Order: sequence, then C-alpha cells, then structure tokens
Amino acid sequence: MDEERINPGHSGTRIVLRTIGPLIALVGLGLMVFGLVDFFRAFGGSGPPRYFWCIFLGMPLLAVGGILTKLAYLGKIFRYMAGETAPPMKDTFNYMAEGTREGVKSMASALGQGLREGGFVAGSQTTVRCHKCNALVAETAKFCRWCGQAMGKSKPCPQCAEVNDPDAKFCDNCGYKYG
Ligand SMILES: [Zn+2]
Ligand SMILES: [Zn+2]
Repeated sequence: MDEERINPGHSGTRIVLRTIGPLIALVGLGLMVFGLVDFFRAFGGSGPPRYFWCIFLGMPLLAVGGILTKLAYLGKIFRYMAGETAPPMKDTFNYMAEGTREGVKSMASALGQGLREGGFVAGSQTTVRCHKCNALVAETAKFCRWCGQAMGKSKPCPQCAEVNDPDAKFCDNCGYKYG
C-alpha cells in the first residue's frame, strides 16, 4: 500500500481510528435502536420504558463515532483531491476514450444519417419537403412517408413545359392555372 509509504507515522493511528470510529458509531446506533424498541414496547403495555436513556447515550456515541470515522478517512480524501490518484485514473480515462472514440464517431454519423433520412434535420440537402403535408422526406423517395403523396415534380405545364408539383394549382414558371 502506498499509504504507508507516504505517511508511515500516521497509518497506525488511522487504522485505530478507522476501527474504533465505526465501532463507537455502531454501539451508539445499537443503543439508540435498543432504547427506541424499549420505548415503543412500553406503549404496548409492558410498563414504563426502562431503557429510554439508551437513546440519549447512543446519540452522542453515534456522533462521536461518525466524526472519528470521518477523521480517519479525511487523509485519504485529501490525498485523493490532491490528485495523487489522478495519473492512473487519467490513463484509464484515456484508454477508455481511445476505445470509445471510434465507436462514438461512427455512432454519431450513423445517427446523423438516420436523422436526415428520417426527415428530422431541417435544411439538409438529402431531404425535400412534401408539398402536401410539408414533412421532410428523403430526396430519393418516390412517395411521402407521412401522407403517401407522390414526390417529385410530375405535372408538366401545357403552356411553358415547366414541370410542376403533382398537386400544383398554378405553374411555378408562368402562372398557368391548372383546370
Ligand atoms: Zn406528405
Ligand atoms: Zn407554365
């Protein structure tokens, strides 16, 4: 353990604190539970609560035990925050990032592709608007996937030969009114 190497003099004290701290907290908790159980049992009719004081003894014990435990682990937390554990963590992170980068990249592009084809990304060159329901449809689609409207311009103008939308009422080019 690098702990002893860094702080040899304190490790003994810390081990004692780590053992005694939780132990005191545990005893305190036990006393509190014991006192509470006795207190509630007294309500059930088995006479006045005789061990109610256990709660008041257990409470400070739990607090002291908690503080001791906290102190025991404080050094560990400080060292952790100081970044002594950072290098191996960084390596792990880099390793993971290296492995996932390609995956994320291909996933993102696949997602983008899917969004474009699904008509969820506006202004994309691979989609056109359905002239009936205004939904974005893949440029290569023959029919609108949302309303079934035939896609592409298929209505030639008899006046100027401009090909208009299949549901056009007027010619885009000359304004000819379809009967
Ligand atoms: Zn449509
Ligand atoms: Zn026309």
